[in-house]
Amino acid sequence: MARQSDTGFSRRQFLRQAALGGVLLCGWNMAAAAQLRGLRVGRHGQGVRLVFDLNRRLTAAPVIRSVGEVLHIELPGIQHWLGRPVVPALGPLQGGAEMNESAAGVVLRLPLREAVRWHSFSLGPGGGASHRLVLDLLPVAGTAVESSRSHPVAGAGRPIVVCLDPGHGGHDPGAIGARGTREKDVVLDVALSLARLIRSTPGMRLVMSRDTDRYVPLMDRMHLGLAQRADLFVSIHADAFPERTVSGSTVWALSQTGATSAAARWLARTQNAADPLLGDVQSGVHDLMLNEVLINMTQTAAMNAAAAAADMMIRGLAGVEDLHNAAVQHANFVVLRAPDVPSMLVETAFISNPQEEQRLRDPAFRQLLARTMHDAVLAHFVNAPPADSAWSATRHVLGKAENLADVADRYGLSVEALRLANNLPHGEGQPGVHLRVPIMGA
Ligand SMILES: [Zn+2]
Repeated sequence: MARQSDTGFSRRQFLRQAALGGVLLCGWNMAAAAQLRGLRVGRHGQGVRLVFDLNRRLTAAPVIRSVGEVLHIELPGIQHWLGRPVVPALGPLQGGAEMNESAAGVVLRLPLREAVRWHSFSLGPGGGASHRLVLDLLPVAGTAVESSRSHPVAGAGRPIVVCLDPGHGGHDPGAIGARGTREKDVVLDVALSLARLIRSTPGMRLVMSRDTDRYVPLMDRMHLGLAQRADLFVSIHADAFPERTVSGSTVWALSQTGATSAAARWLARTQNAADPLLGDVQSGVHDLMLNEVLINMTQTAAMNAAAAAADMMIRGLAGVEDLHNAAVQHANFVVLRAPDVPSMLVETAFISNPQEEQRLRDPAFRQLLARTMHDAVLAHFVNAPPADSAWSATRHVLGKAENLADVADRYGLSVEALRLANNLPHGEGQPGVHLRVPIMGA
């Protein structure tokens, strides 16, 4: 929904821009309608280079915008496109393109796999080549694309930001099962399924530390949650242990003692580095003692939220997988240390256990894990919606002719999420019971 309005906005902007430059554009149109002869795409450094071949020089600058998961390239004054654009899946490009032509020019929309920054320049003819517009796209490190569907509508509060962090990747396979199953692959698949569910949840915005098989340093993962002001950071892993019979899920949250000292040390180290990722925690603070107090305050609130979310996660997982530890475990993992970001680490199952490795290899089980984790995330925010977010909670009194499925449907939840949020593990709930339900922003 928001994507369409974003697109409409961009279109209006474009047309307005064209109108503002009307005299120039009209005169120019009459005299010299530029033709787009083709588009070439290739790797360039860390990113990709797009080369638009033109029969003459562009007289108006291209307008380039990134709208959610799509890069809009507006080429004013271009009259024709000879041939269809062919855009391969390469680097940050998802592959494929959508093109619209109008009197004002050509608009090309390229779906993205990750957020990009760009740089464009023009080249005159030379060496047998025509006029060219060159556009370089570079991935913004550690930032995956956000869901444009979950952008808030005006006045509806900000979206809840969920940061997913599939463990390992690239040269780091994580744990490897007896049959060769790699942790980095199964956790990425679970995370991508979960990402799809979060993207389709109104009032939520998704951030991912990686959505492809690439290595992301631990500090970068932690920084991402901080920079994006995540309301919840979920690191997803599969466990391993030398003893092959060990099995079950574990949910970790940061320990209080480990957190305060580690976060304080980290903040102390970075306090003078003018790190824009630090945000409010850092502003105007140059005193180490004061830092520690602030860290304790923000970290305590974040850890309470993390504990509540982790508890919801473990109750959810109990429905689909044996628990290795029935309670939330506490440890001092780097990825959990971002001040002010409620963070948890989910060990989905033991890849070192042959039965569990078999389950992790099953796409249906990975889907089930993703759905269960989504239910737990929803249930957590039904119980604790961030104050300034697009979500708020209300009560629904169960009617005589209603069942939980009706209520879940009405409020955009699954029955499992509704049960988790209301601590109703079994049964239908008595008529008259007060159910906690969300009002979700669009
Ligand atoms: Zn791991």
